Amino acid sequence: MVRKLQQTEKLAAIGEMSAFVAHEIRNPLFAIGGFARALLSQETLNETDTKKVKIIFNESQRLEKILKIILNFARPAVGEGDEIDVNEVISEALGLLRMRFESQGGIVTTDLDSNLAKVHGNPDQLKQCIINGIKNGFEAMPDGGTLRVETKLSADNWVIIRIMDSGEGIPDDIIEHLFNPFFTTKAGGTGLGLAMTKKIIEDMGGKVKIRSKLKKGTVLAFYLPPVSLGPPVVEKHDEKTVMEKP
Ligand code: ADP
Ligand code: MG
Repeated sequence: MVRKLQQTEKLAAIGEMSAFVAHEIRNPLFAIGGFARALLSQETLNETDTKKVKIIFNESQRLEKILKIILNFARPAVGEGDEIDVNEVISEALGLLRMRFESQGGIVTTDLDSNLAKVHGNPDQLKQCIINGIKNGFEAMPDGGTLRVETKLSADNWVIIRIMDSGEGIPDDIIEHLFNPFFTTKAGGTGLGLAMTKKIIEDMGGKVKIRSKLKKGTVLAFYLPPVSLGPPVVEKHDEKTVMEKP
């Protein structure tokens, strides 16, 4: 519980800081990245210096990615109460991402329930959560594999979205850290995808589950209340209330 509170507070702090971050960090960061790129294109640099400048360039790129996610997340949620067609949002997200994975030999399959109930929320934010999940799936399968997206209504009335990959899986000892802001095992990772996703899904009255088996793959699942149950009652800083079944 203490850890959950810390996560929520960290994310709230990120939201509040974002306007400040945008102005104070963005321009200097672009300058650092830009000059590093300019230096790399010069032939006068020796090998050791090239290595150092490459690190400066790569790290500035990583920070730019973090900044982009934070700014997207902090953008005021327009149309918060929209009724969302989940399958449509999934198709849009997949449309943006699948070609690159398939061109490398990966397989993408879907099984979307055509009678699925709608859910309440901001479609752009839900799309971001689905994109995060799909990207994590692709990144877990650098040598190809199968990514599958399913939707269905559960017997106890949750709209369920499952994003499954046949990738490397997640070691037990890191499972509990996955939703911590900035936790990443990737060289160019931001560690913000799952933290932001959890916050958005829980604000929609839903919950996020992750199940994984080493070398077999991972299932990321979102459980969302259908619109027929009315808009979610979200009590800030009390995730237990949100997690309860409607
Ligand atoms: P990032 O992708 O930038 O590292 P995320 O918050 O999206 O940040 O994910 C955090 C970490 O969770 C990843 O670095 C990875 O270790 C692990 N992870 C998330 N999804 C998967 C997956 N589908 N398969 C294996 N590991 C995953
Ligand atoms: Mg990610």
